Amino acid sequence: MAVTEPAPAAPPAAYEGILRRQAMRESAARTYARSLPIVPVRARGLTIEGADGRRYLDCLSGAGTLALGHNHPVVLEAIKKVLDSGAPLHVLDLATPVKDAFTTELFATLPREFADNARIQFCGPAGTDAVEAAFKLVRAATGRSGLLAFTGAYHGMTAGALAASGGAEDVRVTRLPFPQDYRCPFGIGGERGARIAARWTETVLDDPKSGTPAPAGMILEPVQGEGGVNPAPDGWLRRMRDITEARSIPLIADEVQTGVGRTGAFWAVEHSGVVPDVMVLSKAIGGSLPLAVIVYRSELDTWKPGAHAGTFRGNQLAMAAGTATLAHVRENRLAERAATLGARMLASLRALASHHPCIGDVRGRGLMIGVELVDPEAAPVDGGSEAPPDPLLALAVQQECLRRGLIVELGGRHSTVVRLLPPLTLTDEQATAVVDRLADAMAAAERSPHRRTPTGSIR
Ligand code: PMP
Repeated sequence: MAVTEPAPAAPPAAYEGILRRQAMRESAARTYARSLPIVPVRARGLTIEGADGRRYLDCLSGAGTLALGHNHPVVLEAIKKVLDSGAPLHVLDLATPVKDAFTTELFATLPREFADNARIQFCGPAGTDAVEAAFKLVRAATGRSGLLAFTGAYHGMTAGALAASGGAEDVRVTRLPFPQDYRCPFGIGGERGARIAARWTETVLDDPKSGTPAPAGMILEPVQGEGGVNPAPDGWLRRMRDITEARSIPLIADEVQTGVGRTGAFWAVEHSGVVPDVMVLSKAIGGSLPLAVIVYRSELDTWKPGAHAGTFRGNQLAMAAGTATLAHVRENRLAERAATLGARMLASLRALASHHPCIGDVRGRGLMIGVELVDPEAAPVDGGSEAPPDPLLALAVQQECLRRGLIVELGGRHSTVVRLLPPLTLTDEQATAVVDRLADAMAAAERSPHRRTPTGSIR
């Protein structure tokens, strides 16, 4: 199934019919399908082939899931092995050799200090279910209810299921400022901005009159993904660890998107040396199939049996694919490769920014990269120095990328951050092709009349 020869193109009527039926039958909430009207039929590594016979370089990677790209041989082999073995595919949360191997491999990759005293809970197969489990765990362990979360965060989509089942307490979330250099909420950025952000957190927790009551936990992403690729400074992350530890507040690291080498360390918390109390893991740990777990300090395990249940918590194929992926990333030092290649891509994109005033910022860590697009001709917002975001330009860039055979995602507050999440197996040549296509697309989008009518109103 190697993608060497292009697949014979289906007649346009066939794939156009598929897209038309999707638009008619699927919900108005559909997302990626709107901006990426393609019909994938084959894929390998970085490349997706559409039913139209065209090839695309996929820098969306299943929203950051495909650490090894599409259909990596070690993943396919692991899946085939389970299928050929006659093992049951549905086992609820029973013990199996496949699950045992997965847990052993996962624990071998986690920071030693953490893994040596940790428990794992297999969750329903979406990141959001593992986030729910983490919240329930820290509420049960602390007997408190509120949570601390950060501006720009994304942790999933579930909300009502527990409430509808009568099993939810009201969750009060106190939102704290996430440090960012670009568009810093304090207008400062850098280390000083991060220090003020940390100070704010401390003040909110310690103010006996108008602060927040002691919460059940704090949740953060070491690099915010959907929020527009905002890496947390290591020093700030260590401060969050100190602040939470001093107040006995469990720290939950949401590594759903940053895990498995993506940011240039196997787990993104390793950059700062922070050891969290709970880690939420999904996406790449399933080697492209659905899998989600939380791993946590064993002292927090005050749960009663059935405290977090779910039918689909034993996906054997995902565990086998995940074991193969984790082992491959570890054995081939792909986290280090992501760090090197990511730094190179960031440098190329920053060089590009000097020719494109519409690039407001280039940021990222490892192979989690964001390019924020702005309208350089408009006045800066709120007296700051940064030009306002330009959502229509971002959309135009995404479309121009697609026309050039490059799939990118948009993220951030106004969907103005072009996000690159290529597989860790990306070659130097592919990295160059990605940057070249993005540069071309940017130039074309800037030239196109995407932005404003002559009167300046948004079209
Ligand atoms: N946490 C983070 C950091 C994520 O990026 C995502 C998904 N993008 C989630 C949680 C939710 O995962 P899922 O979509 O699998 O529910």
